[in-house]
Amino acid sequence: MTLVSKLPHIGTTIFTIMSKMATDEGAINLSQGFPGFGSDPVLLEMVAKYTKGGFNQYAPMSGIPALKDILAKKTGLTQGYFPNPETEVTIVSGATEAIFSAVTAVVRKGDEVLVLEPAYDSYEPAITLNGGIPVYVSLNSGDFSVDWQKVKDAISPKTRAIMVNSPHNPSGYVWTVEDVNQLADLVEKTGIYVISDEVYEHITFDGRVHLSLGAHPVLREKTFVCGSFGKTFHVTGWKIGYCIASEELSSEFRKIHQYVTFSTVTPIQYALAEYLEVPERYLSIPDFYQKKRDLFVKGLAKTEFEFTPSPGSFFQLVSYGHLSSVSDRLLAERMTRELKVACIPISVFYSDKKDDKIIRFCFAKEGVELEQALDRLKNLKKILR
Ligand code: PMP
Ligand code: GLN
Repeated sequence: MTLVSKLPHIGTTIFTIMSKMATDEGAINLSQGFPGFGSDPVLLEMVAKYTKGGFNQYAPMSGIPALKDILAKKTGLTQGYFPNPETEVTIVSGATEAIFSAVTAVVRKGDEVLVLEPAYDSYEPAITLNGGIPVYVSLNSGDFSVDWQKVKDAISPKTRAIMVNSPHNPSGYVWTVEDVNQLADLVEKTGIYVISDEVYEHITFDGRVHLSLGAHPVLREKTFVCGSFGKTFHVTGWKIGYCIASEELSSEFRKIHQYVTFSTVTPIQYALAEYLEVPERYLSIPDFYQKKRDLFVKGLAKTEFEFTPSPGSFFQLVSYGHLSSVSDRLLAERMTRELKVACIPISVFYSDKKDDKIIRFCFAKEGVELEQALDRLKNLKKILR
C-alpha cells in the first residue's frame, strides 16, 4: 500500500534545514527567526510559580478568562478596540495553529485563497489541506508594499479568503492606513474573509505603528487576527498565541481549535495573564528591537550588500545581485559553511521559487553575536565566485 501524500510538494522547512546546517557548521545562526536571548526573568518566575502552584491540568478550551480579559484590555490600549474576551478571544497553541484553524474554519474544497507573496511558509499547506486553491499575488519589488490593483484583479467569484501579514515576514513591510482602507474597500460587500497574521505586532521601527485589522469597523466582522506571545516575549518555544475574531467567526474557529489541540498550556496562560498586567512590558518592545536593528544596519553598511533598513519584524533583507549571479540558496549554504553566518534565501517564500538574489537575516540576537556576524559578513566577496 502506498500512501499518496496530501502535500506532495512539501519537504522539510527551510528554517529547519538552515538551523541544522548552522549547528553542524558551527555558524552564527541568523537564519530561523528566534531570539538569541532569554525572556524577562520575571515572566520565567511566574511560570515556575504557576507550575509549582498546581496549575497543570487542562485549561478551558478557549483559554483562561484572566488571559482573555487582559488580552482584550491590551487590544483596547494598543489598537483602540475592545474585543469581547468571552466570545471573541481564543488562546491557541501558537500563531501557526491560529492560522491553520482560521483557514480550516472558512476554506472549503475548490475555494480560492489569495496569498500575497513572498509569504510565510505555513499558509499554503493550510489552504491545500482544506481543499483550497492558493492564488498568488506578488508584492511590489523593492519595498514589498501591496499592489492593490493586482489584488483586485486576482479576486474571482471563487475567492473565499485572503491571507495578509503585517509587519511582514520576510520583508518587514508595515501596512499603512491606506493599505488597511484599500483592503476594507475590496472585501466590503463580498463574502471574502481575511486571515491577518500579526505576530510581529510589537516590532515596528522609526515611529511606525502597527494597525490591527480588527480595529477597522468593516474588517472586524471578516477578520481572524492571529497573534503570538512567542514573538512578543522572546519565547518562541512556548508555542502560545491567540485569535481575535467576531463572535460568529470565533465560534467556528473554536470548533476547529477544540479538535486540533483542545486547549493550550495552562501554567503559561496564568503567567502571561499576570505579566501582561504591566503595559510597559510590551510597549517597550519597539525600542528594544529598534536598537538591534540600528546596530545591525550600521554594520551592514560596511559590507557589500545593498539594503534599506527594515521597517518592522526582526528580519532584515539584503540584496547581492549587483555582485554575483549565484543562486540565493547556494549563497546561503556557502555563507553558512564558509563565512559561518547562516541566513534564509528569499526564493523559498515564493510559490515559483523566484530568485531575486535576496537573503534574510534575523537580528533578534545579542549585540556581541550581531557584531561578530557583521565582522564575518565583511568577507562576503571571498565566497562570491
Ligand atoms: N507567522 C509568521 C509570519 C511567523 O514569522 C511566525 C513565526 N515563526 C508564525 C506565524 C508562527 O508563530 P508561532 O510560533 O506562534 O506559531
Ligand atoms: N517564523 C520563523 C521564521 O520565519 C520560523 C518558525 C519555524 O521554524 N517554523 O524564521
